[in-house]
Amino acid sequence: MENGKTLEIKYLRPLVREKTIRRKGNVLIAFLLALLMVSLGAFAIIVWAFSAIESLVLISILVILYGLILPFLIEPVRLREVKLTAVRTIQTEKPVEKVVTRVVQRPVAVRVKEKEIKTVTAPIKRFNFVGSNETRTYHKMSCRLGKLIKRKFRETANTEKTFKDKRYKPCKVCLAKRK
Ligand SMILES: [Zn+2]
Repeated sequence: MENGKTLEIKYLRPLVREKTIRRKGNVLIAFLLALLMVSLGAFAIIVWAFSAIESLVLISILVILYGLILPFLIEPVRLREVKLTAVRTIQTEKPVEKVVTRVVQRPVAVRVKEKEIKTVTAPIKRFNFVGSNETRTYHKMSCRLGKLIKRKFRETANTEKTFKDKRYKPCKVCLAKRK
């Protein structure tokens, strides 16, 4: 399986190795052929009663013929071994590195400042009378004139006696009726 495309094919220099082999079978055939020719010559000379010259010519012809055939038979065979190497460059897809961003959910430590809620049960002082040390008068707490007294002159008391001892005058609005 190929997963990529071939960019180029480069052939390297072929490696050539030569081998010389002498075929043993051919050598045997050459030997047999020689034997056959000798017998054939001898047979011809005897059968046809060749003269010495005729025999010499026949032997010469046979030798030459044999000499022509022999090289083909015993010639060593050259074996050429060619090693061809091809280099193929394949472009494969690069494995893509996946960038995985991991989102780690960490418990966020949120410091919750617990507000200390103090329930202060402050005793609300409810005074009955309010006086002014500026005008030296005193009022009932509910008197609208008493509410007008500035903080810095304000004096409070639960009983009328406190103010009477200081010789404060009662308010003519809120305390006049009782007289
Ligand atoms: Zn008053």
